[in-house]
Amino acid sequence: MAKGPNNPWEIAQEQFNNAVAYLDLDPGLIEFMRLPQRELSVNFPVRMDDGSLKMVSGYRVQHNTVRGPAKGGIRYHQDVSIDEVRALAMWMTWKCALVNIPYGGAKGGVIIDPRTLSQDEIENLTRRFTSEIAIIIGPDSDIPAPDMGTNPQVMAWLMDTYSMHAGYTVNAVVTGKPVEIGGSLGRNDATGVGVMFSARQAMQKLGMDAESCRVVVQGFGNVGSVSAREMAALGCKVIAVSDVYGGLYNANGLDVRDLIRHVRETGKVIDYPGGEEISNDDLLTLDCEILIPAALENQITDKNADEVKATLIVEGANGPTTPAADRILQEKGVTVVPDILANAGGVTVSYFEWVQGLQSFFWSEAEIFERLERIMTNAFNDCWAMKEKKGVDMRTAASILAVQRVAEAANLRGFYP
Ligand code: GLU
Repeated sequence: MAKGPNNPWEIAQEQFNNAVAYLDLDPGLIEFMRLPQRELSVNFPVRMDDGSLKMVSGYRVQHNTVRGPAKGGIRYHQDVSIDEVRALAMWMTWKCALVNIPYGGAKGGVIIDPRTLSQDEIENLTRRFTSEIAIIIGPDSDIPAPDMGTNPQVMAWLMDTYSMHAGYTVNAVVTGKPVEIGGSLGRNDATGVGVMFSARQAMQKLGMDAESCRVVVQGFGNVGSVSAREMAALGCKVIAVSDVYGGLYNANGLDVRDLIRHVRETGKVIDYPGGEEISNDDLLTLDCEILIPAALENQITDKNADEVKATLIVEGANGPTTPAADRILQEKGVTVVPDILANAGGVTVSYFEWVQGLQSFFWSEAEIFERLERIMTNAFNDCWAMKEKKGVDMRTAASILAVQRVAEAANLRGFYP
């Protein structure tokens, strides 16, 4: 990935610098918290359906482990780069600290477009990638989960491969597994439901009532579709959604549940009959109250931030807003609920899954969402209080809280040797 203003790793560090400026920390400790602790880079062969071998590259980065085992998803996407994985790993460190679950941060990525592979090829790739990173992952050391381009089935193959190496079933090596093999109820919907919990808190603070809110969602995968469904259930009007193929707009509101059914059947939102087509670019600047970017990084930039009409942005994706865009939005008075807060519901229920797996004792769905709601609401309120106290935006407030917690843990543990 090119150096420059939209390099995620540079962006993650800029956000870190913004937070650190409000904290009185030892310069050595700041550098310790900035740099990834461990980076594994692998190149490995995958047997394709036609018998050929394809070489594939991937990464696992453990950013920081002072608060506990490293935690974070694995992404399959053609644009994965080491800098993107570093940024995503650093964001996981702050995300876990912010919702106060006992994990450090990690991320993995494989440079592949999974849409170009058959199911067998994805299984081969997953099993070999798991073997390659098995030297650093484990239920006590580094616990992967789904991210863009991966899903519960991929997690099942990962768990099985790791277990075959160990000689017995190691449930807690990965989260986001199917419920039938030790997954948690609610994990699939957790990120989207968490996005709604944070949006709801923000709406309450800003005096926005659901019935008069029009919502636009970019991305209609696991995060975007559930966020849209939950915002509609709250009483908001979801007027536009999109996926990689394009967007769909209906000023009177889309029937989100029916659209989810349609996407499950056809794989695309655009050919749904209940709306008109709109480009992903136009979607971001639509007239609405709430914008939920739930796709890739760098969607709201200095090029379009000025055109954004929403008064509230809730980041379902990781890194959708660049620092330059943040400054423009802050000046315009737009409230941004940052990724490390807004999308923390996923890793929070991952934590529940890990705890349940280790104890072989499983909770009801009601218990899971009740605990998730409590954690998300408390984290939101802590960030809001910090924002008021320091007079900063929500991202800086969230980062201050998270970095402070990691710094405290690091100081308590001391620096080996
Ligand atoms: N990939 C998700 C994230 O970015 C979930 C990570 C996890 O559950 O460990 O937060």
